[in-house]
Amino acid sequence: MTNLSLQAVKKAFGPVEVLHGIDLEIAAGEFVVFVGPSGCGKSTMLRLIAGLEEITSGTLEIGGEIANSLPPAERGIAMVFQSYALYPHMTVYDNMAFGLKISGMAKPEIDQRVRRAADMLQLTPYLDRHPKKLSGGQRQRVAIGRAVTRDPKVFLFDEPLSNLDAALRVATRIEIANLKEAMPDATMVYVTHDQVEAMTLADRIVVFNDGHIEQVGTPLELYTQPANLFVARFIGSPA
Ligand code: ADP
Ligand code: MG
Repeated sequence: MTNLSLQAVKKAFGPVEVLHGIDLEIAAGEFVVFVGPSGCGKSTMLRLIAGLEEITSGTLEIGGEIANSLPPAERGIAMVFQSYALYPHMTVYDNMAFGLKISGMAKPEIDQRVRRAADMLQLTPYLDRHPKKLSGGQRQRVAIGRAVTRDPKVFLFDEPLSNLDAALRVATRIEIANLKEAMPDATMVYVTHDQVEAMTLADRIVVFNDGHIEQVGTPLELYTQPANLFVARFIGSPA
């Protein structure tokens, strides 16, 4: 069980500060959704947590340990992006197993992890297929399954469904809700600009605007007690 804590976290690219001192506590096992307009800093937040970008100032703690300069591989984090980078020449099974093979894991352990992830994401019938024979939603489930095989403590999702058409988006959202139920100990941070995804998946929603947090709360709190007009408009509450 791993919690995340950000204290006065700032991020600048050259002279341009894009996160202006973020304070945020994410509990172990929590599913937190980041929403906010394009360019407000959501992806940058995930990249800082994953260690793909360095924090300019402030403190990031992962599981109670200061992680500001911890290498990404030591953070116990898996990230799922909008564009699922699958290897076209490998089967679904091999796409999910590849990273584990590279890490030198024993074959029986790899097999167990791949089959468990496939089962969790309804991918068992497709293990021998190549990605080009799959729908977009199935491909994104393989990308999520690949993250699951790494058994991370923390999952970061950056708009994982935004490339999918509406029907697949709903189906894949349900798979993610199932994943959340199946892995209650995993901490999940999920970026979306889709209100329905945010309201249905989140334990708590964080509303970002221009590099700062407008409000943090449960979907119901944000809907019934938006802190300001910005939040009300974003959540779609009848303010
Ligand atoms: P969001 O994911 O909310 O759309 P981002 O986190 O991608 O927003 O971007 C936040 C701001 O940081 C934007 O103004 C973006 O242009 C800027 N930014 C992001 N990455 C870089 C980078 N590598 N170099 C310079 N500016 C960047
Ligand atoms: Mg983004």
